[in-house]
Amino acid sequence: MTRADVIIVGGGIMGCSIAYHLARRGMRRVVVLERSHIASGATGRCGAGVRMQWGTKPNCLVMKESIRILEGLEQELSYPHGIGFKQKGYLFLAHSKAQLIQFQKNVQLQNSLGIPSEIVSPKDMKRIAPLLDTTGVVGGSYCSKDGHCDPFHTTRAYALAATRLGATLLQYTELQSVTKSAEGTFKLTTSAGEIEAPVLVNAAGAWSGYVASMLGVNLPVYSERHQILVTEQVERVLDPMIISLHEGLYCQQTPDGSFIMGLGDPNEPKGLDQGHSWQFLFAVSKKISRLLPDITGVRILRQWSGLYNMSPDRQAVLGAVDDVPGLYVACGFSGHGFMMAPAVSESMADIILGNTPRVAIDVYGLDRFKNGNLFYEPAVV
Ligand SMILES: Cc1cc2nc3c(=O)[nH]c(=O)nc-3n(C[C@H](O)[C@H](O)[C@H](O)COP(=O)(O)OP(=O)(O)OC[C@H]3O[C@@H](n4cnc5c(N)ncnc54)[C@H](O)[C@@H]3O)c2cc1C
Repeated sequence: MTRADVIIVGGGIMGCSIAYHLARRGMRRVVVLERSHIASGATGRCGAGVRMQWGTKPNCLVMKESIRILEGLEQELSYPHGIGFKQKGYLFLAHSKAQLIQFQKNVQLQNSLGIPSEIVSPKDMKRIAPLLDTTGVVGGSYCSKDGHCDPFHTTRAYALAATRLGATLLQYTELQSVTKSAEGTFKLTTSAGEIEAPVLVNAAGAWSGYVASMLGVNLPVYSERHQILVTEQVERVLDPMIISLHEGLYCQQTPDGSFIMGLGDPNEPKGLDQGHSWQFLFAVSKKISRLLPDITGVRILRQWSGLYNMSPDRQAVLGAVDDVPGLYVACGFSGHGFMMAPAVSESMADIILGNTPRVAIDVYGLDRFKNGNLFYEPAVV
């Protein structure tokens, strides 16, 4: 049996970035188990938008720190290829007075925390995104420091930096079962043999509930499918990510000229289905051609889906599992885990090592489900 100091299940952005921070803090035998290749889960399927515009204080603070980290991450991780971080802004559209009032509250909170977001009029929006049809839009909010990143390169950058610091990344290695010995050691059976460690981190994304259940832990999370598509590359015409919570739609143009867009559809199946549907293509095309009529006719190259791991308040579930000493979770990201990884992974590593994290994440702990301290995030697509 191979021994490690910590085993992380999941080689998505979360597992790879936690491994990096543990190794950087001097933890010696850090092992990441990934049953496929890194970023094969939600990370490699996501829209990879990164924003500070949130409606709850902890999310604003985590994302303010994440964006600060992303601004210097290529240097920090010595990743010459680049992680493709571009700050072209996020533009939220309000389709009703009530929604605009919510955005005003959000912006007030964001500004009080030093986030440079602002309320914008439909006229301002035309200046920020000239192709936008603002019919029916009563206003919105905008932050020029929000943006987009390459999810594959960002994950790879963390994974390479972690392995340079001594961590071991075991790809195509599936956790099949785990028990905890009387001495407090986790004993894992994987598709490549047995391995044990006193600390286990569950960063298995949509599969985190299943992984936790191997140890008799019932996590309050579930998974649901979200679909997304990419178009052919065309001349650059759109800078910010456009988000309409009313339509459940987001759309951005990447630096190479492709449009990436997706929908939050309440009828999507819960569970682990990663298929896709023509109904999505139909709905998203209809909605986007209303908002950006000039891109009608741009050809769709590919559609796919990935899984959101949802929690009841649409907030991450982070930290220790009190009932099983040595077990930690980083899951339940509810569709915004990619952007949170830079700050959250650092805080997770500090918590695992018994340090005080720079960005507090205790509000995301599992105990909130016992003591009723849920805090609902309004700004989720
Ligand atoms: C369509 C879509 C759009 C999104 N858009 C955004 C966005 O714009 N911005 C944003 O911040 N977030 C977005 N998200 C959410 C984001 O992708 C996730 O929150 C984030 O990637 C979660 O990372 P993770 O590392 O926790 O999980 P994952 O990337 O899913 O990684 C978990 C890994 O665990 C592995 N695994 C599972 N079980 C086992 C096992 N038994 N043994 C070994 N390995 C195992 C899986 O193979 C997987 O690679 C989006 C998600 C989707 C689906």
